[in-house]
Amino acid sequence: MSNLLSGIEEITLMGPGPSCIYPEVYQALSKPTLGHLDPYFIQIMDGIKELLQKVMKTKNRLTIPLSGTGSAGMEACFVNLIEDGDPVLILINGVFGMRMKDVATRLGAEVDTIEFEWGKPVEVEVVAEKLKNKFYKIVAIVHAETSTGVRNPVAEIGDLLRDSETLYLVDAVTSLGGIEVATDDWGIDALYSGSQKCLSCPPGLAPATFSDRALDVILNRQTKVPNWYLDMSMIAQYWEGKKRVYHHTAPINMLYALYQSLYLIIEEGLENVFRRHQEMHQRLVEGLEDLGIKLLVDPPYRLPQLNAILIPEGIDDARGRALLREKYKIEIGGGLGPLAGKIWRIGLMGHTAREENVHKVLNGLREVVGRK
Ligand code: PLP
Repeated sequence: MSNLLSGIEEITLMGPGPSCIYPEVYQALSKPTLGHLDPYFIQIMDGIKELLQKVMKTKNRLTIPLSGTGSAGMEACFVNLIEDGDPVLILINGVFGMRMKDVATRLGAEVDTIEFEWGKPVEVEVVAEKLKNKFYKIVAIVHAETSTGVRNPVAEIGDLLRDSETLYLVDAVTSLGGIEVATDDWGIDALYSGSQKCLSCPPGLAPATFSDRALDVILNRQTKVPNWYLDMSMIAQYWEGKKRVYHHTAPINMLYALYQSLYLIIEEGLENVFRRHQEMHQRLVEGLEDLGIKLLVDPPYRLPQLNAILIPEGIDDARGRALLREKYKIEIGGGLGPLAGKIWRIGLMGHTAREENVHKVLNGLREVVGRK
């Protein structure tokens, strides 16, 4: 019997995630597995919390990675904070805002939404108007909308909510480690991310943070959190305190990987990491312009780490991506929902955001658009 793993090729991951993995992260994954209550492993857990606080710019005590992908982070934030009939406002301009609506609705929240055109940012004034008329327990927004490449005004919406009782819930799956995420300064109460985007780890962990105010809401619920696995009050007992209480067996080696990637980010310096993403994005945009390829999003709202480009007229979506995959060993993403067949998504996330990758993808695209 042949081993399928021997057929895995090195593909340059330039789609919407997962991104290229740091070599040091692969090494971390292969370290000996410790027990989930081993004293040395607990030191590593504490190290992860500290590094996450730095990368998320927060002093929140409850700042930990959840076992599961970014969607588990989303589910955890909503399931811990919502009780039946709670009024929730979700700002939607892409797939992941839609997913938030689905999650919150399933939990019995009374969900209102404001929808904005895909490819355009959430408009602060429209949200301000809506907030004048009704109190919401939670306002939720996606920082970096991966389906369109739009950067939403998370700081500005945070300003609208300052001094109110409303909890501010933010999806930072694609933003964390690629652009600034200032959890405390922006007044965010619950924030989640994913390991496989700008943190350049494999998929499987959802770093999350909860403010003391959010934790207070969780600890004073009328009803139990209707999801055992993601109940933060129980998970916190494993991640905090002198005596750790088993909740579920932590994905030990993935946590080594996360520790390593956060360590690398802090070692490089957060500001340097953001600058690197911005510079690589700039080079990509210049190269795309040379090829006559246009971007979906207006310059002020573009994410450096996720570049949505309009598929040039006459070019076949699937065939173009297949050429990149087969000949150039590059993965890019297609469009989702209404943008399917209209855009490609080029990720420059974390370890992918390097000059050699920018050259590589531009070189491949040159053939795709018939310029060579
Ligand atoms: N939120 C955003 C903005 C995302 O880009 C993604 C995944 O692409 C998710 C949530 C869901 O994360 P996952 O696919 O890791 O569950």
